Amino acid sequence: MKTVKDYIRTIPNFPHEGIMFRDVTTLFGDGAGFSLAVDQMVEAAQGRDIDKVAGLEARGFILGGAIAHRLGCGFVPIRKAGKLPGSKISEAYLLEYGEAVVEIHEDAIEPGERVLLVDDLLATGGTAEAGIRLIERLGGQVVGCSFAVDLPELGGAARLRAMGMDVDMLCA
Ligand code: 5GP
Repeated sequence: MKTVKDYIRTIPNFPHEGIMFRDVTTLFGDGAGFSLAVDQMVEAAQGRDIDKVAGLEARGFILGGAIAHRLGCGFVPIRKAGKLPGSKISEAYLLEYGEAVVEIHEDAIEPGERVLLVDDLLATGGTAEAGIRLIERLGGQVVGCSFAVDLPELGGAARLRAMGMDVDMLCA
């Protein structure tokens, strides 16, 4: 019986020399693999009483949209700077070299709503932390952070757990 990890391939030297990129397109592109990942992420979200799923651009949209549909709740995109058309708030975070910015529509989450944050992969946790800050600035409560893949050596799960987050991942 195949696990989620079996559907993910590693591409060396992408996007830079020395990086081992975990390519989830092979997971998403396989019906059994994609269903397995979504089923397991939905299972991990049981009992959290979720109002909205927030997905991080871009691969978090694919998983997050499917999970939101299964949970019967709304989906909120957290996008890279300059993509959202309406009034929005922004959070900057540090990358290995430089800085990135993510944004959310300011009316995407109502105060008190319980939000599940979803992305394909957790590395340093910088992207997820910026997403959490956006949700919390709108008054939302992040009741779980869910990832298909964790790279534990980069410390993202420990970083998010130190913020008090419940973190679920399907494989490392
Ligand atoms: P972090 O902010 O945790 O350091 O990096 C996680 C973000 O970068 C996620 O949005 C994720 O999609 C992307 N990312 C970083 N490395 C990889 C990788 O090896 N594979 C994939 N699929 N995404 C990655």
